[in-house]
Amino acid sequence: MSEYILSIDAGTTSERAIIFDKSGHIVGLSQIEFQQFFPKPGWVEHDAEEIWTTQKKTITDVLKKYEIKPSDIKAIGITNQRETTIVWDRKTGRPIHKAIVWQDRRTAEFCEKLKLQGLESLIQQKTGLLIDAYFSASKIKWLLDSVAGARELAETGNLAFGTVDCWLLWNLTQGQVHATDVSNASRTMLYNINDMQWDKELLTLFKIPKIMLPKVKPSSHNYGLVDKDHFGHPIPISGIAGDQQSALFGQMCIESGMTKSTYGTGCFLIMNTGPNIISSKNKLLSTIAWQIGKNVTYALEGSIFIGGALIQWLRDNLKIIKSASEIEALAKTVTESGGIIFVPGFVGLGAPHWDPYGTGTLIGITRSTSQGHIARAALEAIALQNLDILDTMEKDSKIKIKELRVDGGAAANNLLLQIQANVAKIDIIRPRVNETTAQGVAFLAGLATGYWKNLEEIKKMWDSDKIFNPQFDNNINNIRKNWSKAIERSKRWLYE
Ligand code: ADP
Repeated sequence: MSEYILSIDAGTTSERAIIFDKSGHIVGLSQIEFQQFFPKPGWVEHDAEEIWTTQKKTITDVLKKYEIKPSDIKAIGITNQRETTIVWDRKTGRPIHKAIVWQDRRTAEFCEKLKLQGLESLIQQKTGLLIDAYFSASKIKWLLDSVAGARELAETGNLAFGTVDCWLLWNLTQGQVHATDVSNASRTMLYNINDMQWDKELLTLFKIPKIMLPKVKPSSHNYGLVDKDHFGHPIPISGIAGDQQSALFGQMCIESGMTKSTYGTGCFLIMNTGPNIISSKNKLLSTIAWQIGKNVTYALEGSIFIGGALIQWLRDNLKIIKSASEIEALAKTVTESGGIIFVPGFVGLGAPHWDPYGTGTLIGITRSTSQGHIARAALEAIALQNLDILDTMEKDSKIKIKELRVDGGAAANNLLLQIQANVAKIDIIRPRVNETTAQGVAFLAGLATGYWKNLEEIKKMWDSDKIFNPQFDNNINNIRKNWSKAIERSKRWLYE
C-alpha cells in the first residue's frame, strides 16, 4: 500500500493541492484560481470563504483524479501567501470582512505616521521587519477600527485573527484549532522574533487584543486532525510554513548561508542565517525561516517587485513576444544588450534602493537598438536586481554566498540563469522538482509524523536538474557600471 503527504499551497491568485510520494516526487496536482477584488486604487481583497471552499475542492479533486484514498494520506502540510489578514467570528466561523491581501496599501498613511514617531528601530529590533502596510498588524487595526462593533467583539474574545494558513487550519479542524506557525507569525509585525512570543508593547501600539491571536507553534508540529466530515478520514495536519520560507526548506537550504531565489511575478530571495537573527543595515528583512523541535532557524529576506512581470509587460504591453517563453530566443538574436539598461521600476524601486518615486527606465537607446537588445536587457535586469540583493545579503550577513538555488516560472529560462551565473559569479542551481514551495511544507509535515525519519533522509531527495556555472564575460563590468548609473537616473523621477 502506498502512503503520501498532501501539500496545500494557498497562493495569492490560485490554490493548489499537491500529493508527494515517499521519494519526494509529485504524484498528483489540482489547481483552482479564485477571485481578486480591487474595491479602490491600492486596495486588494480576497473572499476568505472562497479561499476555504476552493482549497477544499482542490483536495477533493486531487484525491479523486489520482484515485488516492484519504486514509493513504499520512499528513497534510499547509503553505500560504503570507501577511494576508482574516478576522472571523469564533461562534459562526464567518469572516467579518473580506481578507486584506498583503499587496493592499490602505494602511500606508498610518504606517507613515508610525515612522514619523520614530518607531522604526524599535519595530525592527523586535520583529525584524520594516514599518510597512505589507504586514498584518496595521491591517488588523484597520478591520477593528472600520467594521462596526468589531473592536468590542474582539475585546470580549469573540473574534479570531489569522493569516491564510491559520484560517484553513481552523476550517479543516471545524474550529477545533486556532494556531499558526512561527514563520507566519513573524510576518504579522506583532511577534517578537527574539523571545518568540506575541509582543505586548506592539499589541498596545496597534490596539490589538491578544485574545484574538492564534497560538504559535513550530513549523513541523502535529496541529490536529482534519474533521472526518470533510474527506471521510481524520488526516493529521503536521506542517505549516509561509510560502517563501517553505520554498527555502524545499530547496534544502538548511545550512547557514544557503540562499534561494524564486523567479515568479516578482523575485523573492531568502538566505538561511541559522540560529542568528541578522539585523539588516540595508533594508532587508530578518524573519523566522522555520522551527523544528526547539530549534529556530532565522533568515534574511529581500524582495523584488517586478521579475517575471517584466517579461509579461514585453508580451502584453510592448507585444514584442507572444508568450513568455519566446523571450529567450529573442534575446539570443543578439550576443549582448548593445548598451541598453532596463530598470523595471514599474512600482517604484524595492530593496536595497527603496524609492517609491522611482519609475521604469529604458536607457542607452541608439538607432541600432533592436527588439533583441531590449529582450536581453530585460533578462539582465532580472539578474541584476537579484545581484543587488545578493550583494546586500553578503554585506549584512558577512557570509559569502557560494551558490544560488532557483525556482519559479522564470527559472525555466536557461539564458536568464546563465546571465545570473555570469553577473553573480556563482553557480546557479535549478532543482529537479520545481514545486519547491509545496515540497518544503510536505517535508516539514512528513518530518513531524515520522513519514521521513530525519533531515538526512530528506536531503538525499533534493536533486539538481541543471547547474549554470559562471562564464567569463568581459562585458559584465560595463553592465554593472551602467546598471548603477541607470538606477540613479530612475530614482525620484516622480517626486514633485
Ligand atoms: P507567480 O507564482 O508569481 O504567479 P510563476 O512562478 O508562475 O509566478 O511564474 C510566472 C512568471 O514567470 C510570469 O511573470 C512570466 O512572465 C514568467 N516566465 C514564465 N516563463 C518564462 C520564461 N521562459 N522566461 C522568462 N520569464 C518567464
